[in-house]
Amino acid sequence: MKSVLVGVGQAGGKVATALAEYDDEMGFHAIRDAVAVNSAKADLQGLPLDTVLVGQDVVKGHGVGGDNELGAEVMQRDADEVMTGLSGRIDSATEAIFVVAGLGGGTGSGGAPVLAKELKRVYDVPVYAVGILPGRDEGSLYQANAGRSLKTLAREADSTILIDNDAWRESGDSVAEGMAAINERIARRVGLLLAAGEPIEDRSLGLGGESVDRDVAQSVVDTSEVINTLRTGGLAAVGYAESPASEDADDNVNVVTSTTRQALLTGTSLPDASTADAALLVAAGRPESLSRKGVERARSWVEEETGSMAVRGGDFPLATDDIAALVLLGGVERSPRVQEFMNRAAEAQAQTDGRNEGEQKRDAADAFQNDELDDLL
Ligand code: GDP
Repeated sequence: MKSVLVGVGQAGGKVATALAEYDDEMGFHAIRDAVAVNSAKADLQGLPLDTVLVGQDVVKGHGVGGDNELGAEVMQRDADEVMTGLSGRIDSATEAIFVVAGLGGGTGSGGAPVLAKELKRVYDVPVYAVGILPGRDEGSLYQANAGRSLKTLAREADSTILIDNDAWRESGDSVAEGMAAINERIARRVGLLLAAGEPIEDRSLGLGGESVDRDVAQSVVDTSEVINTLRTGGLAAVGYAESPASEDADDNVNVVTSTTRQALLTGTSLPDASTADAALLVAAGRPESLSRKGVERARSWVEEETGSMAVRGGDFPLATDDIAALVLLGGVERSPRVQEFMNRAAEAQAQTDGRNEGEQKRDAADAFQNDELDDLL
């Protein structure tokens, strides 16, 4: 999927950089361009991307702090400048635009929904978001900001792939310590997803220029399958796991199925997100180790586990000694983790507003459309 990334805010810039670097290292060329947008000049310095500074008139390059309403406002004011900065990069070959942001801060939290809306208004390709949820130990302002941002982003973007900062944290790490490691994980997962839909002749297959014969790949993923999996809109998640491939073809039936189970049960970007409207299973590895039987079984298992009848699947031939399973889940807004987060965010907003917490508790079923969270736009 030929994509252009726009990283908004500090997390957005760092994650967009990690993604662009991963795509480059692997030689995938799915990421055609990446730009960082911020209201804080210092956070743009040192990023190896082209940058756009917004809100200079208002905050003089010092950022918006944790004020996401101000983040939304400065993005709106300078939307023309940002769109001009992007216009030469988005062309007829572009298949998707990704707005990447941490939802708990100010610039990314407020700016990402504004930018997604603007991009959708102008471009005919899907506009997706990669939204990062604050870890549980981040303060209530982060939780409330992320709740409002997510509510708005889910409406404006065609789909929002959610990454929970608690999901891939090594135990004992603080969010800050684990940040670089989390960013690498995001880059590999989202990077593989974008590359999976690329025509094979367009990419080198990683690892020392060794090539993998295109003809032996049995069923290759098409960009339209990624788009269709995300078509239900709302929220999405990615799961990933890898295990060493066996020399024995029969053993690889089990390696494919058990790796897929791990990807979905313990490896998702949004823990416990296993109920989905649609899913895509990408099995990556050397074509001779991607057991057909294993992939078919894994796909049926994903169907049962997610309760979705729309489980697509395909291979990603890759020169590696592992078998990797990447699962994209579309339509995960009913999952417990989302409900739990939206409740947490609404309580945090109530605290911030000085209202009675007890009054804010909502039935989990309508938490996602929580009326206590104000829309940002
Ligand atoms: P902004 O610059 O005002 O948009 O705010 P930040 O991006 O600094 O922070 C917003 C949220 O993103 C917070 O919840 C942070 O924990 C999270 N965050 C900040 N930097 C990173 C990062 O490099 N990676 C990840 N995964 N999350 C980050």
